[in-house]
Amino acid sequence: MNYRTVKNRRVNKKKVLIVILIGIIILGVINRTWAYVDEQIKIKAEQERLAEEKRKAEEEKKKYMVGVSHEAKKYSYDAKIVSEKLSKYDYSNNGEKVVFLTFDDGTSTTVTPKILKTLKDENVKATFFLTGENIERGGEKAKELIKQEFNEGHAIANHSYSHNYKLLYPGRTLDLEAFKADFEKTDKMLTDILGKYFSTRVLRCPGGYMSWKGMDELAAYLDENNKASIDWNALSADAEGGKKSAQQLVDYAIKTSKGKEMVVLLMHDTYGKEETAKALPSIIKYFKDNGYEFKTLS
Ligand SMILES: [Zn+2]
Repeated sequence: MNYRTVKNRRVNKKKVLIVILIGIIILGVINRTWAYVDEQIKIKAEQERLAEEKRKAEEEKKKYMVGVSHEAKKYSYDAKIVSEKLSKYDYSNNGEKVVFLTFDDGTSTTVTPKILKTLKDENVKATFFLTGENIERGGEKAKELIKQEFNEGHAIANHSYSHNYKLLYPGRTLDLEAFKADFEKTDKMLTDILGKYFSTRVLRCPGGYMSWKGMDELAAYLDENNKASIDWNALSADAEGGKKSAQQLVDYAIKTSKGKEMVVLLMHDTYGKEETAKALPSIIKYFKDNGYEFKTLS
């Protein structure tokens, strides 16, 4: 072995070592890259899973956003349109007669069950504008009645918690913050009763929207939040003037509905309104005989 051969072997050994070293480095890099890619895939999958979960929750929520059960949507009419028409005294409905039976100030454990029975017997749907204080007063029984209203296809709407004019409109002028807080209380009660996804965008101002000053502020709030305030264009007068007999209530309801293609009829199902319950079958008969369709506000 001469000097040259020995030198060549050393050089070769060195080359092999370098190649192995480079190999190790490359493997290391590949390994780390692979782990990185793998992690990115996992992160992406998790993000997609969360997005899907969110989408499903939103979809579930939408089912209840209208204040009626999913099955009851076929009876429902866009409350926003009704609200706008009422504010312009436009009671037309493209040649089709439609009536919204509305019951305020419930739930009562005395009158509401009677109203619900008649609605079921007559197979028509109504809208209930509930007040939180009365729900509380009725306890568990009132809660069961609200579930029944919802499950039987009626619309559930908010009519404040306290129904207290002095609190909502001090000096006959809207206090928006007090108004919002009072209505939110009832909203919260309704989700406790009907489930976390329940929500209604329909409300009725105690005393009526048209009765108070400073309501422009409320209009802006309602628009921003896609909510609709509904007054009425007909009434049985079961809360106005002196106490009336069932027949007087029927007559008043018919008198104020006449000639209107779109009727939003104000009635009450709170305590002491037994005559309203008695009048209801005849009121429904009048609208059926005159070709009206019964719809709910949501
Ligand atoms: Zn009321």
